[in-house]
Amino acid sequence: MYLVHLVARCKDTVIANLLIDEFVNLLIRNFVFNYDYKIPRNLSIINPYDDTYFMKRAMQEAEMAYDKGEVPIGAVIVINNQIIARSHNLTETLNDVTAHAEMQAITAAANYLGGKYLIDCTLYVTIEPCQMCAGALFWSQISKIVYGARDEQRGCIALNTKLHPKTEFRGGVMADEASQLLKRFFIEKRNLN
Ligand SMILES: [Zn+2]
Repeated sequence: MYLVHLVARCKDTVIANLLIDEFVNLLIRNFVFNYDYKIPRNLSIINPYDDTYFMKRAMQEAEMAYDKGEVPIGAVIVINNQIIARSHNLTETLNDVTAHAEMQAITAAANYLGGKYLIDCTLYVTIEPCQMCAGALFWSQISKIVYGARDEQRGCIALNTKLHPKTEFRGGVMADEASQLLKRFFIEKRNLN
């Protein structure tokens, strides 16, 4: 319980997440190695690896893009609760309109898996994919896409870009955080010009 107390008091999210991971490991070790150990009923339902957990990792990537003066969009790809690709928008740095976070994440995940199809993978991306990325995701046959905020103008929903029929699609996870960061970026950019 000391760890729970520490997490509650911890202001640094990275350290808080490490503490949560340690706590889960502790639970697993007790569960595997001590058969008499009973996980308390209220703790047994804790699953730190939910959509918000991974979207936070994608938001960290978006913040890295922001710090570089890039449009702040971040992405991670996950399989079996493990992050196998992380990326953020690098269109200015690479001088490449295709360097969206999702495009890089697709390539990195395929490299990691050693195969071009992203079966059983989930992409977490802070902003709804554009039609280019939705098209690439179609070809990857990715199992699930979770996005943060909608892109009403250039998102794949408004432009009616088809996703693969096997791809589950959901949005609105940490949408406010993702759109606030994007708004802040464009306001600052406007003020600089
Ligand atoms: Zn895109």
